[in-house]
Amino acid sequence: MPRPPRRLGLSTLAVTGGSAHGEADTPVVQPLVQSVNFMQEVGTADGLRYPRYGNAPNAEIVQRRLAMMEGAEASLILASGMGATACALLALLRPGDHLLASSWIYGGTRLLFTQEFATMGIDVTLVDPMETRAWRKRMRKETRAIFVESPVNPSCRVLDLRPISYLTKEGGLALVIDSTFASPVNFRPMEHGADVVIHSATKYLNGHHDVLSGVVLGTAPYIEEVRQKMVVWGQAPDPFACWMLERGLKTLDVRVTRQNENAGRIAEWCHSRKEVRHVHYPGLADHPDHEVARTFLDGFGGMLGLELMGGAKSAERFIRRLHLIKHAPSLGGVDSLVSEPRFSSHSHLTSEERAALGIPDGFLRLSIGIENADDLIADIEQALK
Ligand code: PLP
Repeated sequence: MPRPPRRLGLSTLAVTGGSAHGEADTPVVQPLVQSVNFMQEVGTADGLRYPRYGNAPNAEIVQRRLAMMEGAEASLILASGMGATACALLALLRPGDHLLASSWIYGGTRLLFTQEFATMGIDVTLVDPMETRAWRKRMRKETRAIFVESPVNPSCRVLDLRPISYLTKEGGLALVIDSTFASPVNFRPMEHGADVVIHSATKYLNGHHDVLSGVVLGTAPYIEEVRQKMVVWGQAPDPFACWMLERGLKTLDVRVTRQNENAGRIAEWCHSRKEVRHVHYPGLADHPDHEVARTFLDGFGGMLGLELMGGAKSAERFIRRLHLIKHAPSLGGVDSLVSEPRFSSHSHLTSEERAALGIPDGFLRLSIGIENADDLIADIEQALK
C-alpha cells in the first residue's frame, strides 16, 4: 500500500508551499510577472487573466501557500488588511443582517463596522469578549457572524475561543478571526473552530515594513465570493506586492521564533523593573490569559504592552530617549517599534473609551523585531533612566 504523503512542517510550507517542482533550468526564485495584462483565448471568457481578478501569477502562488500554512481550503490576497476585512465581511453580510463583533479590535476595523456598515443597513453590536455570556445575550435571529481579534491589538489579551466557537457552530454562524498579531507560526485559528481567518499581511506575514497587503482564508466557495467583492471594490494587490510577500513568507518561521524569544526576554526584564507599572505579555505567568494563551498559541508573540510608573508623561519621555527602537505605527516586522495607540490605531476614541478597552493614556505598544535582545534591553534600560 502506498504510504500517505507526510504532512510538511510550517517552515517548509512557508518556503515552498504551492510551488511546482520544476525541471532543469526552472528558476528557484519565483519570477516576478509584473504584467497586468495577458493574451486571451479567442471565443471564450474562460481562463481570462487580469490581476484585479486576483489571478496574477505572483498572487496565485502566495494564495496556495498561505492556504496550506493556515490549513484552509483557499485564500485570497488583497491590497491591505482593511481591504481583506471589508471584503471578507461584505461577502458574508447583506443589508438587514446583524454582526456581533468583539469591542477589542483594531481601531480601523471598529470604524468600518460602526460607521460604514451602518450606512449599508448592516447592524453591528460590539461585545466585551471577556463577558462570555454577552455573546449569546446579544444574538438575534438576523445574526450571521461573530468577529473577534486574538491576540488583541494592542492589549495583548488572548481570547478563549471555546465558548465562542460552540455558539457559532450551534447557531450556524460564521466565526471570523483576525489573527494578525499571531501569524500562523503562533496560532492557526482553523484548528480551533474558525470559519474565516484574516490577516493584515502588512505585518508578520511580510515582515519587513515594505508591503501593504491583506489575506482572507476560508472554504473555496466562500473565497470565490470574497474575490467577487474584491474585483468590484478594486481591492486586488499589485503583483510586486505579492512577490515581496512571497519572499517575506520564506523567513516567517525563523523571524517569528526569534521575535517570540526576544519579546519573552524583554517582557521578563521589564517585569522586574521598578519604573514599569505593568507589562502586558501573555507569556508572563501573571498575565490574565496566560493559561488560555498556553492552550491556543504555539508562541506568545512579539508584541507587548508597557505602562510606566510615571504614566503618559513618562511614556512620551521614554519614546524620545529610545535609540534603537523606532517610534512608528504598524508592527510585526524585523525592526523593533514603539507606538502609543492613543496617537495611532485608537486615536479616534476618547481617553475613557480607550481605558475601557485596557488602553489607558500612556500605554506603550512594543513590536519586537529580530535584533539582539541584549541590545534592545540596553536601549529600554537607558530610556527608562
Ligand atoms: N487588523 C489588525 C489587527 C491590525 O493591527 C491592522 C493594522 O494595523 C489591520 C487589521 C489593518 O491592516 P492594514 O493596515 O494592512 O490595512
